[in-house]
Amino acid sequence: MDFRIGHGYDVHALADGLPLVLGGVALPHSKGCIAHSDGDVAIHAVCDALLGAAALGDIGLHFPDTSDEYSGIDSKILLRRTAALLREKGYEIGNVDCTIRMQRPKLRPHIDAMRAAMAGAMGVDDDRVSVKATTTEHLGFEGREEGVSVSAVALIYRS
Ligand code: MG
Repeated sequence: MDFRIGHGYDVHALADGLPLVLGGVALPHSKGCIAHSDGDVAIHAVCDALLGAAALGDIGLHFPDTSDEYSGIDSKILLRRTAALLREKGYEIGNVDCTIRMQRPKLRPHIDAMRAAMAGAMGVDDDRVSVKATTTEHLGFEGREEGVSVSAVALIYRS
């Protein structure tokens, strides 16, 4: 069995009055991510972890933010295409784990919905997808509510 692991990291700035979409779920909040796509920073980090595991470059290579095709796009579509790209190379997704750093709102009530949404987009069972959230105790840009950062790891395999 050929196991690979990958890491992903993404940051988006927050601005008042924009929709907030994280892990494929729209969350009620006064701020949202500034982005070319729907700004789903969690899915972007997961895509990069998957692409990194397969050594297939990064999300900017496959889905450039200069392309009109990806303007405002639902990032679940990018995640679905990323999973398809891996399967074309003979890989299956073992598991994905990500950590969202954000001061507000409380994410715990939405964690299972995010897991289900991302698992659905990847075509895997929910129990292969972990989403964790932490504040940064008011430190740094996340703590000042200027932005959101997400790191992710993914394990993929092929026989
Ligand atoms: Mg991004």
